[in-house]
Amino acid sequence: MKISEMAKKLGMKPAEIRAKAEALNIDIGRKSRTIKDSIALEIINKIEAARLAARQEKAAEEIKKEKAKPRKVKKIKEKPEVQKIEIPEVIMVKDLASKLNIPVTTLITELMKNGIFATINENIDYETAAIIAQDLGFETIKKIEKAEELIPAEGEKDLRPRPPVVTLLGHVDHGKTTLLDYIRKTSVAAGEAGGITQHLGAYQAKVKNRIITFLDTPGHQAFSAMREHGAKITDIAVLVVAADDGVKAQTKEAINHAKRAGVPIIVAINKIDAPGADVNQVKKQLAQVGLATEDWGGSTVAVPISAKTGQGIADLLEMIVLSTDMEKLTAPYIGQARGVVIESHLDKKIGPVATLLVKRGQLKVGDPILIEEEAGKIRLMENYVGEKVKSAQPSEPVRIVGLGKVVNFGQPFYVVGSQKEAKMLAEELKRKKQAKSLVKYRTETGTEEEEIKPTLNLVIKVDVAGSLPAVRSSILALDSYGVVVNIIYAGVGEINDSDVLMAKAGRGQIFGFKVGVAAGAKKLASEEKILIKTYDIIYELIDEIKKLLKEMAVEEYEEVEKSKGRVLAIFRHGKTQQIIGVKITKGKLGPEQKLRIERQGKEVGEAKIESIKIGQEEVKSVEEGEECGLGVGANVSLEIGDKVVGIGREKVKR
Ligand code: GDP
Repeated sequence: MKISEMAKKLGMKPAEIRAKAEALNIDIGRKSRTIKDSIALEIINKIEAARLAARQEKAAEEIKKEKAKPRKVKKIKEKPEVQKIEIPEVIMVKDLASKLNIPVTTLITELMKNGIFATINENIDYETAAIIAQDLGFETIKKIEKAEELIPAEGEKDLRPRPPVVTLLGHVDHGKTTLLDYIRKTSVAAGEAGGITQHLGAYQAKVKNRIITFLDTPGHQAFSAMREHGAKITDIAVLVVAADDGVKAQTKEAINHAKRAGVPIIVAINKIDAPGADVNQVKKQLAQVGLATEDWGGSTVAVPISAKTGQGIADLLEMIVLSTDMEKLTAPYIGQARGVVIESHLDKKIGPVATLLVKRGQLKVGDPILIEEEAGKIRLMENYVGEKVKSAQPSEPVRIVGLGKVVNFGQPFYVVGSQKEAKMLAEELKRKKQAKSLVKYRTETGTEEEEIKPTLNLVIKVDVAGSLPAVRSSILALDSYGVVVNIIYAGVGEINDSDVLMAKAGRGQIFGFKVGVAAGAKKLASEEKILIKTYDIIYELIDEIKKLLKEMAVEEYEEVEKSKGRVLAIFRHGKTQQIIGVKITKGKLGPEQKLRIERQGKEVGEAKIESIKIGQEEVKSVEEGEECGLGVGANVSLEIGDKVVGIGREKVKR
C-alpha cells in the first residue's frame, strides 16, 4: 500500500504516518513510499484503535464532567460500553450489517468510500470488515476457521520417529548444488545410487540405516514459504559456507531466516580442498555472527567438507542424524496424510503434477486430497527415483498426479474422507478467496500493469433482473481492443445516488437500460461529473460501449528494449518455472518487462517475469550493475551465460 494512500484514508500526513510507525517500533524503511499490506494494516489498526480509545476517553470525560455538574441534568446516561463483535474470516455484507446493527445501504456506502464495491450478497474479508466496524466504534475479534479447523485433526496415534527434512542455505556459489548432487550420487536411499535423473524437489539419503530427506529447492524459498503459509517444511538447516570466501551477506540472511523459523543450524564449511581455504578464519567469522563453534566457546556444529572430493561429507551426514536424535522428531504413521507441496508444474503429457512432502499419516493412491482450493484424487504416485508406489510415509517426498491445476510451493495439503468432502471444502475455500478485500483491492489497483492498461469501468442498471445476464454478457462479449472492461456494479432499478457514488469511487460511467434516473442522482452526477446514459434498445447501449472502447484503444503501444542482463546462475531448473541469478548490465529491469532470451547471439526463447528479488527482498526494479534472483516462466531451459533482454511497452507517439 502506498503511504500517501494510507495517509489519505486516515486523514493524516505521510510524515505523521512515518512518525507513528517509528513510535510503534515498526520499521517501514526511511525512504520507501510503499509498505507491505500486512504492516500497513497493522499500523492502520493501531492508529484506529488509538483513535477509538481517545474517543472513548473523551466520552468518559464528558460523562464525568456531566456528573460533576450540580444536578442540572436529571439523569446521566451510562458510559457507553464498547461492543465487542466476532467476525469470521469472510462475511457477507448483509450479515455484517446486521451484526453492526446498521442498514445495509449504509454499510455499502461505507465500503464504497473505501474503494470496495460489494453488493448485499457478496463477501468481504475480515480485515475490511474490521476496519469498517472499528470506524463505527466496535471492537472486533477474528473468528478463525482455516482449512485446519474445517478438517478435524487426526489423533496422535502410532507416533514414531521420522526422518529429518533438511534444507541447504548459504551464499551463492558456496557449493549448495554441488553438495546436494554429491549426496544424491553417493548416498541415495532407494534404487541404484546415482539413478535419479529427475529433480523432484527432494530426495532421501541413507546414512547407516537412517534416512535423511533433502530438499532440493533453494533454502530461502523454503523459508519464505514457511512464513507465508505457516507450514513447517524443514527441520534442520545446513548452512554452506565456502572456506575460501567466508561469511557473506547471504550467509547472514540465511542465518536470520533459520533463526526466525526456529530451525537448528549445522554449518558445512565447504571447499576445504580449494586453494586459499581457511577453516579457522570461517569459524572466527561464524563466532562474530552468533554461531560460535566449540573451539570458539560456543556449541554450533561446523563440519569441514569438500563437495568436490567428498571429504567430510560422511561426518556431516552423521552430524545431521545426531541432531535429529536431539530434536526427537516424530509423526503418526497411520491416518489421513497431511503435508506440504514442494514442487508443482504442468507436464505436457500428463497434466499438472506435484511433489508432496508427507508430514504425518500415510498418503495412499486413491486418497481424496485438498490443496489450496483445489480438490483432487491421487491417481498415480511415484517415489523420488521415479518408481511407482502405493503409499508414502512421513518425511517422504512423492510425485503425484490427480490435481486439476498446478499448486503453489509451500501450500499445505490435506487428505480428507471422500471426494465429495474435498470438493465441498474446496468450494468453501474458494468462496473465501473471492471475498472482497480492502487490502487486496488497493494493491491490485496499484500495479503498474493496470496503469498502462486502459480500463473502462461501468455501472449498469436495468429494468428487470431477467435483462441483467443478457446485458452483461453482450458487453463482455465485445471485442475490447485491449481495453479492460470492468463492470463495477450491475443491478436492477432506477439509477440512484449510490450508483453515482459507486461510479465516482471507481472512476466509471453509468449505463441504464430501460430505467430512469432519480432527480437527486442527476444532480449529484452533474456535480461529480459522472456520465449517465440510458437506453431503451439494447443494441444502442452496446454500440455506445463499443464506441467508447474503440476511442480508448486508439493508443497503441510498441515494444522497446528497456534492460539487458546476463544469467550468472541457475538456482532452479524446471520445464516451465525456473529461478535464475541475473546481473543487469544495461538499463533498469522491472516486473512488467518481458524477457527475450539470447544464446550465442541468437534468440532462443522468451520468458515472463514472475518474481524479482535482491537477496531475500522482493523488489520492483533492478538497476544497472545490480544482481538479482528472477523467478521466470520460460519456454526454454535457461543456461548460465544466456543474455536476457527486458522488453517494455511504450505508447506510440503520434
Ligand atoms: P551454489 O550456488 O551454492 O549452489 O554453488 P554451486 O554448487 O553451484 O558451486 C559453485 C562453484 O563452486 C561451482 O563451480 C562448483 O564446482 C564449485 N564448488 C562447489 N563445491 C566445491 C568444493 O568443495 N571445492 C571446490 N574446489 N569447488 C567447489
